Amino acid sequence: MRLSALLAPTLREVPSEAEVVSHRLMLRAGLMRKAAGGIYTYLPLGYRVLKKIMAIVREEMDAAGSQELMLPIIQPAELWHQTGRWAEYGDEMFRLKDRHGRSFCLGPTHEEIITDLVRSEVRSYRQLPLILYQIQNKYRDEIRPRFGVIRGREFIMKDAYSFDRDRAGLDVSYQKMFEAYQRIFRRVGLETRAVLADPGAIGGDDTHEFMVLADTGEAEVVYCTKCQYAANVEKAAARVLSPEEPGDGKSVAVPPLQEISTPGVRSIAELEAFLGLPATQMIKTLIYKADDRVVAVLVRGDREVNELKLARALGASSVEPADAATVEKATGAPVGFAGPVGLDGLMIVADLEVPFIQDGVTGANKADTHLRHVVYGRDYRAGLVADVRFVVAGDLCPECGGTLASARGIEVGQVFKLGTKYSAALGATYLDETGQERLIEMGCYGIGISRTMAAIIEQHHDERGIRWPISVAPYHVDLIVINPADSAQLQAAESLYDNLWEAGVEVVLDDRDERAGVKFNDADLIGFPFRVVVGPRTLGEGKVEVKARVQDEARILPFDEAVRYLQEQIAPHVGRGGALVESRSCHPGI
Ligand code: ATP
Ligand code: MG
Repeated sequence: MRLSALLAPTLREVPSEAEVVSHRLMLRAGLMRKAAGGIYTYLPLGYRVLKKIMAIVREEMDAAGSQELMLPIIQPAELWHQTGRWAEYGDEMFRLKDRHGRSFCLGPTHEEIITDLVRSEVRSYRQLPLILYQIQNKYRDEIRPRFGVIRGREFIMKDAYSFDRDRAGLDVSYQKMFEAYQRIFRRVGLETRAVLADPGAIGGDDTHEFMVLADTGEAEVVYCTKCQYAANVEKAAARVLSPEEPGDGKSVAVPPLQEISTPGVRSIAELEAFLGLPATQMIKTLIYKADDRVVAVLVRGDREVNELKLARALGASSVEPADAATVEKATGAPVGFAGPVGLDGLMIVADLEVPFIQDGVTGANKADTHLRHVVYGRDYRAGLVADVRFVVAGDLCPECGGTLASARGIEVGQVFKLGTKYSAALGATYLDETGQERLIEMGCYGIGISRTMAAIIEQHHDERGIRWPISVAPYHVDLIVINPADSAQLQAAESLYDNLWEAGVEVVLDDRDERAGVKFNDADLIGFPFRVVVGPRTLGEGKVEVKARVQDEARILPFDEAVRYLQEQIAPHVGRGGALVESRSCHPGI
């Protein structure tokens, strides 16, 4: 392909709407254009990258024994009613009606439709296990589409679903997918971390997210600096220090409860300043609505409530902070003065750390009043003591006691043990050897293909542009002719071009009538792994200049050596389906 003919409109200006580097570079390098909020057109170079990622995903999914199929994007509402998700999905689902008034959605995910398929096609244990996957557009009317294709409303996903006879079979399928994901992300050049995640309403403990650590990530990941423990902050736990353990104080004799006047002092910060005591000594009391119940939630003054954990601890489907009127009704005091002492008739949930607060301070359930010398067990008790707070950097690892650190991450994939949630809702069963009917155990496994492309850029760029890993680069080599009007230069370049394609190297020929500087800048911006220059300085000696995008120095090589060198560099990164074949001719019209 000649760059003069390629639709690859690079931009010198930084588009103002783009907040993160991958979004800016995808627009500037001419990889994509916006069609509507969160909806993009992929231009030829961008689409080549996507096809390379998809080829790697296909190779690894096939190698892991899963089978590719294609499910419909438009899905009937009835199936979603059967699992209850037609209502649950809310505004994130794109809904439409056909000419007869029947309801459909644009698939945000495909558990319903694939379980429907399997319930009609699978009858016997002999047909299991089964792992099916597809690569297809997904539709989610995200409340805040942003960061380009990182959070789109139309995006490409690889989604796989496993079907097994029992839990042990599911464990095997899950492990297979987990390992395939590790290979996929390694091959596309991404450094990822598999972190424990919150399974949400589905329950169970087995789900991992594959995170690309990047400052612009929307997720927070907590990881141990000593062992392998890593979890999404929504899920992360920490070891609790009990008074018996070193680092915390010994039990001390605490004076009796004392009421103190604290006019207008509502927040923990104000209380710290007013009393000159640390937040770690305060029992922060928050009133929540959990489904239909009102509950009091206690955490240490310097902690924040993790509402996902709270919902799980209570078995509630939704929790939210109570409004002021509810707080006043429940505590008898205005907001800011709630405390657990004497809070009769209200369910009290205490975080694991709270009982260890030796000599606490908390609200007195009375305007402008707090209590001092509050002791768990003596002055109050909780109906439930559970982990309901957010873990923070510096906390102790729940597994090894090492120190936890935190980082931001982009979720590029997730593996999930669904169990029988969908097979039960839709009646997907099989007959075992004894003829007994059993529910199929399911897992689901997603990779955001388009998000992965952006995440690769987040990890591979510099101030000049993208630095594509060879395995996913739109082309491996940008072959620049300094002066295409000079027929010797052009002819030498065209013959090198042919030889490179012959050697399995994907190459574009920059024959544009532009200054050399413009061509070099575009080569760096688009991020081809190698740049080869045919120009007057080296052509006389029958040589070309070859430079890797990630290196500063160029090497001057004879034409045939350049081909050999590039072939050697590139071959190890091209998988069986990794190289994209196209019309190799650089001659227009052919
Ligand atoms: P998120 O928490 O980021 O919204 P999710 O957990 O809802 O994602 P899944 O249902 O697990 O997403 O989808 C599988 C994969 O699809 C994700 O790991 C992510 O890579 C990708 N993905 C999800 N939502 C989007 C989106 N709006 N735009 C691009 N990719 C997405
Ligand atoms: Mg997810």
